[in-house]
Amino acid sequence: MATDQATAADAKQMYIGGEWVGASSGETTEVLSPATTQPLATVQSGSAADVDAAVRAAREALAGEWGQTPPRGRAEVMGRIAGLIMQNLEELAALESANVGKPIKEAMAMDVPASAGSFAYYAGWADKAYGQTIPHSMMPVLNYTIREPIGVVGAIVPWNFPLAIATWKIAPALATGNAVVLKPAALTPLSVLRLAELAAEAGLPAGVLNVITGPGREVGEAMAAHPGIGKIAFTGSTEVGRGIAAGAAATIKRVTLELGGKSANLVFADADIEAAAAAAPGAVFGNAGQDCCARSRILVQRSAVDDFLAAMAPHVEALRVGDPLAESTQMGPLISAGQRTAVAAYVPDDAPVAIRGSAPEGPGYWFPPTVLAPVSNAERAAREEIFGPVVCVIPFDDEADAIALANETIYGLSGSIWTRDGGRALRVARAVEAGVLSINSNTSVRVSTPFGGFKQSGVGRELGPDALEHYTEVKNVYYATTED
Ligand code: NAD
Repeated sequence: MATDQATAADAKQMYIGGEWVGASSGETTEVLSPATTQPLATVQSGSAADVDAAVRAAREALAGEWGQTPPRGRAEVMGRIAGLIMQNLEELAALESANVGKPIKEAMAMDVPASAGSFAYYAGWADKAYGQTIPHSMMPVLNYTIREPIGVVGAIVPWNFPLAIATWKIAPALATGNAVVLKPAALTPLSVLRLAELAAEAGLPAGVLNVITGPGREVGEAMAAHPGIGKIAFTGSTEVGRGIAAGAAATIKRVTLELGGKSANLVFADADIEAAAAAAPGAVFGNAGQDCCARSRILVQRSAVDDFLAAMAPHVEALRVGDPLAESTQMGPLISAGQRTAVAAYVPDDAPVAIRGSAPEGPGYWFPPTVLAPVSNAERAAREEIFGPVVCVIPFDDEADAIALANETIYGLSGSIWTRDGGRALRVARAVEAGVLSINSNTSVRVSTPFGGFKQSGVGRELGPDALEHYTEVKNVYYATTED
C-alpha cells in the first residue's frame, strides 16, 4: 500500500552504503502481524533506482576498504556480528516471531542462534578458501589456482525463515570477500533491517551489506537484471526461481536457487512406528507447514497405515496452535490471507480428513493442522507444494513402490526414511532423488552440512563448505619457469 510523505517520514529506512535512507520513489508499505492482522511497522518501498544505488555502494566498498581487508579481518568482523546477534537474541526472536508468526520458543532456540551460527561458522572459513598447485607437464612450470570473490552478490530471501536464510547467503559471501545487496521478502523485512544495524555496530564497512525493502517483483527483477551484480543467491518458490534464472541469463550471472519441495517421509512396516508417528507432525507442521523441507507426503507401508494414523493422531490433536509470542505455542498462523486461501483450496469439503488439530477463532491467518488419508500420489494435494499445515498419507506396497512414489514428483529437496533394516535404509537413501535425507529422523538443516535440492528444488548448495564454491571464481595461473 503506497502512503503519503508524512507517513513515509516515520517509516523504517533502507540501508544503502552505510546510510539509512528512504526509497527514491518516496513510497512506503505496511508490514502486518499475521497473528493479529494489525500493522507492525511501515517500511520503504524500494525500486530499481534503489537497487542501482546499492550496487554502486557495494562496488565502492569492494574497491575500497573491504577489498583490502585480509581474511583474518573479515573473520573478526563476522565473529563480532555473531556475538551481537546472540546479545540481542530476545529482541531478534520477538521481531521474527511477531512478523512471521512463528512460535517465540522456536525463534529463540533455532532461528536466531542459527543465524549467529552462520556467521561464526563461515568466519572460520575466511582464511581457508584454498587453491591448488597442479602438476602440469614435464615443462618447468608452476600451475596454481586461486579463489577470488565474485564481487557483488544479490541475495533474495523468502518470508518463512527471513533472518536465518539471509545469513546463509550473507555469511559465506562476506567470508570470501564479496559485498551483498539483500532483498528480504516484502512481508518480513524487520529482522534483517535490525541485522544491518548490528553489522554496522560490529564494524562492517559501509556498502558491504545493503538492504533494500519493497515489492518482490520490482526489486527482485531489477537485481536479477543488474549488470553490476555478479551472482544471485535466491531462496523462494520454483516459479519465481525460474524467472530469476531467466532474468540473470542476459548478463550470465552465477545463480544458486533454493526452491520448493514435496518431500517424502517414508515409513516402512518394520520401523519403530510410534517414533515415526510422534516425529511426523514436527516434520510437516513446523513453521505452520511453511517450510521448504516439510515432509508433506507421508508414504506408509500399507500394512502399517492404520497403526501409524492411530499413533499420530494424539500428537496432532495435542499441538498448541495460537499466539506466536506465547511461550507454550507450538504452531502459529499462516503468513497472510492469500496463503490461507491457497492452503484451504487443498482441503475441500469432500477431502479425506483423517486427523484435524485445532486453530484459534478470530483475527489472524489460522489454519488447523490437517492430515489427509488415504491419498493417491496422483492427486493435486500430493503433487503440489501446499506450504501450509496439510499432509497427505499415501500407502505403498513394497520397497520398489516406495522409491517410485517418492521420486514421482518434480521436486527433490529433502526426505526421511524410517526402518529398522539398515540395508534397506541405505538402499532407499541411495535411490531417493533428494538433496537432504535423514534416516530415523526428520532433521534437514545443519550449518556444517550441504543443503539444497535435486530436480526442480534448486541449483547449487548452501551451508557447509560446498556453499563457498558458489561465492568464488576459480582463477588458474600458469607460470612458465623456463630460463631465457
Ligand atoms: P517467493 O518465490 O514468492 O519469494 C521469494 C523472494 O523472491 C521474496 O524475497 C520475494 O519478494 C521475491 N520475489 C517475488 N517475486 C519476484 C520476482 N518476480 N522476481 C524476483 N524476486 C521476486 O517465495 P516465498 O513465498 O517468499 O517463500 C516460499 C517458497 O520458498 C516456497 O516455495 C518454499 O519451498 C521456498 N523455500 C525454499 C527454501 C530452500 O532452501 N529450498 C527455503 C525456504 C523457502
